[in-house]
Amino acid sequence: MVKASRKSHHKGTTLKQLLRTFPDNETAEKWFVEQRWPTGICCPKCGSLNVQIRLKHRTMKYRCREKACPTQFFSTKTGTVMEGSKVGYQDWLIVAFLVMTSLKGVSSMKLHRDLGVTQKTATSPSTRSAPTPASKTRSAPSWSSATTRSA
Ligand SMILES: [Zn+2]
Repeated sequence: MVKASRKSHHKGTTLKQLLRTFPDNETAEKWFVEQRWPTGICCPKCGSLNVQIRLKHRTMKYRCREKACPTQFFSTKTGTVMEGSKVGYQDWLIVAFLVMTSLKGVSSMKLHRDLGVTQKTATSPSTRSAPTPASKTRSAPSWSSATTRSA
C-alpha cells in the first residue's frame, strides 16, 4: 500500500527542503497518515473504515465506531514503531530522512566535513615524508628476491 508513493519521495530532497515541506508536527503527521492509510484512515485493530476523525483529544485523534472493536481510540502512531514514543512526527520524519540519506552515502561525506578531514590534509603529510622512506624501500626488491632465493 505504501510502496507507490514512497518510491520517489526522497529523491534529491535536502533536509532544508524537508523542513520547508513539513514545518511542523501537523504537516508531518498528515504525511504519515497518507503513507499509512492512502485509501482512508481505518482502525488498526479491526480494519474498519468506520472511523471518527479529528477528535479533540491531543494524541488519540481517531475513534473506531465499531461497537465490537476492542481498540476504540487510536492515533497515527498506534501499531507503528512510533507507538508509545513522545517524539513528534516531524522528528520522526527527520530521523527517517537521515537514515535514508545515509543509505545513499551522504552521511559519510558529511562525516568527512564534520571531522574536518579533507583529502588534502589526509594525503599531504605522507606525500611530504614519502621521499626519504621511499629511497630506503627501493631496496625492498632485494629482500623479496632474497626470500625467494632462500625459499
Ligand atoms: Zn476497530
